[in-house]
Amino acid sequence: MSYKNFPMVPRVIFGRGSFNQLNEILAPKRLSRNAPFIFLIDDVFKNNSWLTSRIQLSYNDRIIFISANEEPKTSQVDKLVEDIIVTSKEHPSGIIGIGGGTLLDLAKAVSIMLTNKGDAKDYQGWDLVKNAAVYHVGIPTISGTGAEVSRTTVLTGPDKKLGINSDYTPFDQVILDSELTKDVPKNQWFYTGMDCFIHCIESLTGTYLNAFSESYGKMALNLCKEVFLEDNHSNIESQEKLMMASWHGGMSIAYSQVGVAHAMSYGLSYLLGTKHGIGNCIVFNQLEEFYPEGVKLFKQMKAKHNITLPKRVCADLNDDDFNTMINIALGLEPLWENALGNNWKKIMTPKKLKELYKKM
Ligand code: NAD
Ligand code: ZN
Repeated sequence: MSYKNFPMVPRVIFGRGSFNQLNEILAPKRLSRNAPFIFLIDDVFKNNSWLTSRIQLSYNDRIIFISANEEPKTSQVDKLVEDIIVTSKEHPSGIIGIGGGTLLDLAKAVSIMLTNKGDAKDYQGWDLVKNAAVYHVGIPTISGTGAEVSRTTVLTGPDKKLGINSDYTPFDQVILDSELTKDVPKNQWFYTGMDCFIHCIESLTGTYLNAFSESYGKMALNLCKEVFLEDNHSNIESQEKLMMASWHGGMSIAYSQVGVAHAMSYGLSYLLGTKHGIGNCIVFNQLEEFYPEGVKLFKQMKAKHNITLPKRVCADLNDDDFNTMINIALGLEPLWENALGNNWKKIMTPKKLKELYKKM
C-alpha cells in the first residue's frame, strides 16, 4: 500500500476585502519588465470597474476577459497559450484566474501549458505533466467547486472530459475574498453551492473514505447545511461560510474521490454541454437509491430556495447518445469504485445507467 503524497496550496489569504492585497502579493513575483502578468477574468466583470479598477497593470500586463458560458476546452487552452506566447516578449511572470471553476481551471491549465510541450489534450489524465507551471494565482468569485484548492483542472477534449491531474496543477496562491461573490445570481449560487454539498456526500459515503477526508468532509457538510437550511446568519456570514465549505469540500475529495453523481454528470456535460453545477443537481436529484440521506437533504434545500431543475433533459436522446454518455461515465473507474466498491461493474451495468439517465 502506498499513500498519496499530494501538494496543497502553499499560500492563501482569507478575508472580506483581501482582494485589495493582490498588487502587493504580485509585485515581488514579477520576473522582468518583459514578463507580464496575465489576468484571465470572467467576462461578467467586464463592465464592472468595482473589481477591475483595483488591478494595477504595469508594463505589458494584460487582462483577457473570458466567457464562462461554456466549460473549458483543451482547444481553448491551446489558443490562449499561443496568444500569450505570441504577444509576450518573455514567459509571463504569472497567470491570475478570477472567476468561478471555469476561469480557475483555465488559469491552471494555461499556466501548465506555457511550460509543457504539445497540446493540452495530451495531459488529460494523471501525472502526465513534466515541467513546473508558471506561477499561478486563483481568485474565486463564486463558491462551491473546490477548484481553488484542487489538484486538477477539468477540461473537455476531443475525446474525453478529464482533468489534468498533477502536482503542478494547484495554485501557488489563492485569495479568498467573499465580497467577490456578492452578486452571484441565486440559481447559480445554488447550483455551484450544491457541487460542494455533493462533493461532501460522495466523499463521506464512499469506500475511499479515511479520517483525513472525513474531517474536512464533515466540516464542509455542516457549513453547507448552515448556509442552505438555516436563516440565523447575515449574507456576509453566509458568503464566508460557503467559501470555506468549498475549500474544505475540495480538501475532502483530495484524499478520497467523488462518486455516482459526478460520473453521470460528466456524461451529460460531454454530450449536451450541461454545466457542472446544474448537471450535478439534475443527476443527484434522481440518486436516492445510492445516497438516500443526501438526496433527502438536497430536496429540502431545493424546496427552501424555490429552485426548479430542468426536466426531460434526456427525453429526446437516441441510443447512440445514451451510449456516448454511458461510455464517458463508466470510463471514470475510480469514481465508481469509490461509490460502489470493488464489485461496482456488477451493480452499475450500462443498462442500469441508461435507466437512470432516462429519468433525467
Ligand atoms: P462557472 O465558473 O462556470 O460560472 C458559472 C456562472 O456564474 C457563469 O455565468 C459566471 O459568469 C457566473 N459568475 C461567476 N462569478 C460571478 C459573480 N461574482 N457574479 C456574477 N456572476 C458570476 O461556475 P462554477 O460552478 O464555479 O464552475 C464550474 C466549472 O468548474 C466546470 O467547468 C467544472 O468542470 C469545474 N470544476 C472544477 C473542479 C476542479 O477541481 N478543478 C471541481 C469542480 C468543478
Ligand atoms: Zn464537482
